[in-house]
Formats: sequence, structure tokens, C-alpha cells
Amino acid sequence: MFTWSRPINVTRSRIAQLAPPLERHVRAARSALQRVARWLLHLWRSSLQLRVIVSTMLLGLIVVLMLGSYLYQRIADGLVNDRIITARAEATSQTLAAQSRFDSAGRMDAVSLTQLAFDVVGQLSSPGADRSREVILTRAKNNTGPASVPTVLSGDVGLPSVPAGLRTAIAADPTHQQVQLILISSVDGATVPAAIVGSRVTLPAAGQYELYFVFPLDREQQTLRVVARTFSLGAIALVLLLGGVAYVVTRIVVDPVRRAALVAERLSSGLLHERMGAHGEDDIARLGKAFNAMADSLQEQIRQLEDLSRVQQRFVSDVSHELRTPLTTIRMAGDLIHDSRHDFDPSVARSAELLHNEIDRFESLLSDLLEISRFDAGAAVLDVEATDLRNTIVRTIESTAALAARRGSRLEVIPTDRPCVAEIDPRRVERILRNLVANAIEYGEGRPVTVQLGVNAKAVAVSVCDSGVGLRAGEAAMVFNRFWRADPARARTTGGTGLGLAISREDARLHGGWLHAWGEPGVGSCFRLTLPRHTGTVIESSPLPLRLPKERSAPSPASESTSSPVAISGVAES
Ligand code: ADP
Repeated sequence: MFTWSRPINVTRSRIAQLAPPLERHVRAARSALQRVARWLLHLWRSSLQLRVIVSTMLLGLIVVLMLGSYLYQRIADGLVNDRIITARAEATSQTLAAQSRFDSAGRMDAVSLTQLAFDVVGQLSSPGADRSREVILTRAKNNTGPASVPTVLSGDVGLPSVPAGLRTAIAADPTHQQVQLILISSVDGATVPAAIVGSRVTLPAAGQYELYFVFPLDREQQTLRVVARTFSLGAIALVLLLGGVAYVVTRIVVDPVRRAALVAERLSSGLLHERMGAHGEDDIARLGKAFNAMADSLQEQIRQLEDLSRVQQRFVSDVSHELRTPLTTIRMAGDLIHDSRHDFDPSVARSAELLHNEIDRFESLLSDLLEISRFDAGAAVLDVEATDLRNTIVRTIESTAALAARRGSRLEVIPTDRPCVAEIDPRRVERILRNLVANAIEYGEGRPVTVQLGVNAKAVAVSVCDSGVGLRAGEAAMVFNRFWRADPARARTTGGTGLGLAISREDARLHGGWLHAWGEPGVGSCFRLTLPRHTGTVIESSPLPLRLPKERSAPSPASESTSSPVAISGVAES
């Protein structure tokens, strides 16, 4: 048969094959990243210790960064300020020395004056090649006389390095020294900060000149670099140390908490003898002692409850057993009276019938009580054999047909061709189904009762639905309680004990199955039994829905007459 799904799949896979390798790599990398992110998120959520360590390290890092940058700034400011103070002092003394050289020279021609300027600048600049100071001598901005002496430089730092603002400041206030920070390029081409100090000098015949001293701050910069490196290493060490301390501290606290969680888990799984180790006097030891005291008290209470429950179970079982013998005698006497009721006058005959019915009810109540006490004592065992549930249903229908006929209900089975074989205890399953069908007849108000069978890979299910009185909200959960009845005053015609559904649920549980109920007042009820096909299998879903079959939920004359179910035992509906 032609389907669209194959060509589409083929096309998709071919496109995937043709996709460029880069795209595939990117997709693989993205999914790997997502996996790692999910793993990290899981780790973060599940480990208190990790959260404490990471938070401590982050907070530590923030504090260390703030403190470190503040200290670094203060040290840098201090170093630069110190250097500016010494630069000013040096520049003052050197300017005075230069001025006195020019003053003592007297009047001379332009060539000699230029020569003198070169000599003075050469002397003022630092001796040797350490470049701790450079000098620039240049004509003042407002000196309009003949330029007899050119700009003289002691080294590589030229006039363009002098900021225009500094020159304007000197022109505006020639009697005071002016200082600024600038950037110059060092011998190796790197940029170095420098302090430039400028003041006025007067050259004989040439007039006002500006004398600048440039002090490179490379040593200070080097010192700051060492400080920054030391701070960074210190910060890393401190943050790691904080992480280590947080790890040790959280281990001390988290370990006992983890142990407590483990012990609590084991306790809740039924190992009531589990206890925490509680040594010493500290808070953890107190936690351990309080935990152990709680576990002791719980264990004691559970033991007392178990004892009480055992006594009660024993009592119920003993009473039921004890009542059996007198009941057998009463039964024989009752049967004798019942058989000879035709010889009595009518009122005595009626009493004989009532006695007979009540003895029946008493007998079934006793056997139900005995059965339930067997469940309570854990003595109920399965007698498993592979059974086709279709046969079990046929037997159930046969055994309830008389009751259905009496109540005017039609029993319908929705047929299935598939064999519904499961490993079950047929006696118990038949008892469950008989109870469900009998209830559906009794509470079905004479309307049809539908039995449906379903099967899937893991489970088989039987649903029994009626369109009778139904169940009110919340009653679907209560019907399985012992002796619970929706209407305690309701006339009992079939001799129900009030234990039927409680026993059915225990039987279903013994199989590892489910028994569910659904109902709506005036619409009807549906009971669904789901059992695993193989003993020990865990069932995940039921093959049947928990609701009335479609033709029941919306009854119409047409659907009544052409209903698909097969009527196994039919009588005229009232
Ligand atoms: P019993 O039928 O002997 O009273 P069960 O345990 O079988 O005891 O049922 C408990 C109660 O659940 C019933 O009394 C009745 O109120 C309610 N119930 C059971 N089956 C149905 C049903 N098909 N429709 C409505 N109510 C029901």
C-alpha cells in the first residue's frame, strides 16, 4: 500500500546526509553543550555543598576585586604624586641654574647664544643614557622678537609632545611653574606616561623662552605592574583559599545531613532499625540524637499499632472460626425447618423462610470476614494458571444469569476475537467479576449491563458498566472501603455483605493489578479490572477506558435496538 511517510523520511535522511559537515559539527557541538549545561544545572540543584562553595568564591572574588582596585588606585596616585613633587623640585633648581648661566653670559651674537643654549640643555638633561629627564628649550608663545635661537631638544621628546594647554598656561602665568601628565613613546616604541614641568627663562638679547623638563614615569609604571601582578596572585590565592574553607566547612555540616537523609530514606523504606551516628556535644550530635529519638518513638508506635492490628485480625479470625460451628448447627436446623415449612401455618412458614434467608446472609458474611482476615494476615496466596479471560467471563455470566433474570436486566458482552490469555488465579478473578456483575445488576435499575474485554501488550482488562443509580462525586474511591454503602438503608435483596468490593480490590492487588470505579448519579457506573498478563509485570496503562460504552452514555431508541454487544442472557426489560 502506498503511504506518504516513506518518501518523506527518505528525503529527510538524504537532506541530513547532504548537509554540510560544518553544520553537522555545529549541531553536534550545540547538543553536547546542552547536555553539559543540563548536567551542570542538575549538579547545581542537587548539591548544597557546590552551591555554598561557588557562592562563597563568587562573593570573595567580588570583595577582593573591589578592595584590590581601591588599593591599586591609592598606590598609583601616591606614586605619581610623589614623582610630581620631586619633578617640581628638580625642575625649580635646574631652571634657576639655567637662568643664572644665561644671566652671567652677558650680550653675545646669535651663534654663541645658540651654542650656549645647546650647552645648557645638554647639562640640564640627565647624565648618561637612563633618560630619567629630558629637556626642551623653545621660544615663548608671545615672544615676537627675531628667532635668533632655535628650539633645542636634549633627546627624542620633541616640541609636539608639549600640550598646547600647558604652553597657554605658561603664557598666562609666566611667574609660576606649570605641570601636566602626558604620554611619550619610550626607546622600545611603547607608550610611557610622563610628568612635564614647564617654566619661563630669559635669554640675553633673544628674550622670553620656555624651558620644559620631561620626567618619564616608567619606573613607577613598572612598580605598579609588580603591584598589580602581586594583587592578582593574592586574589586568586585568597579566592581558592575561601573555596577550600567553604568546602571543609560544608563537608562538616553537609555530611551529617546527607547521612540523616540516607537513614531517613532507609527508615521510610521499612528498615526501622536504622539509626544515625551521634557522637559529641555539638549541634550535629544533637540533630543525630533528636533524629534517633524520633526514629525510636516511631518504631515503638508502629510496633504497638502492629500488635494492635494483629490482635484485631486474630480476634476477627477467631470469632469467625468460633461462629462456624454453631452456625453449621443452626444451618442444619434451619434447613430442616425450611424443608417442612409447608406443614406449618402460614405465619410460621414465612418465619421459616426469613430464618433461612438470614442464615444464608450470615454464612456469606462469615466467609467474607474470614477471607478479609486472611488478606490482613498476609496469608492470601495466588494459585496462578494461564487462563483465557473470555472463558472466565462466560462462567461469570452463567452464574449471574439467574439474578439478572430476577432483576429484569439484560447482560451484554462486547465480543472480542483476540484470545485474552493471562497468568491469573481464575477462582479469584471469577469472584471479582461475579461481584462486579452482581453489583451492576443490583444497582443497574433493570437496565442492560455491559461487560467488555480488552487486551494490550502487558495487560488484560474487563469493564462492567451499568446505567443505573451511578455514583456521586467522591464515592468512586469510597466504594472499596469495608462495609461502605452509598445508601445504608437500601433494601438488600441479593444478600451483599458490604465487603464485596473490598475483597475484590485485595484480589486485584494480589495479582499486581488495578480495580477502578467511575460513576455519575443517574447516568450509571463503570468498574474496570486491569491485570498484568504475566505475573510480576508492572502495568502502565489499561487497554480499556473507564467509562460507559458509547451507546450507553447517550441512549437512543435506535442504538438500543441495533446495539453491537451480544446478549448472553436476555430477558424482557421492565
Ligand atoms: P455490597 O454490594 O455488598 O453492598 P460492595 O462492596 O460490593 O458491597 O459495594 C459497596 C457499595 O458500593 C454498595 O453498597 C453500593 O453503594 C456501591 N456500589 C457498588 N457497585 C455499584 C454500582 N454498580 N452502581 C452503584 N453503586 C455501586
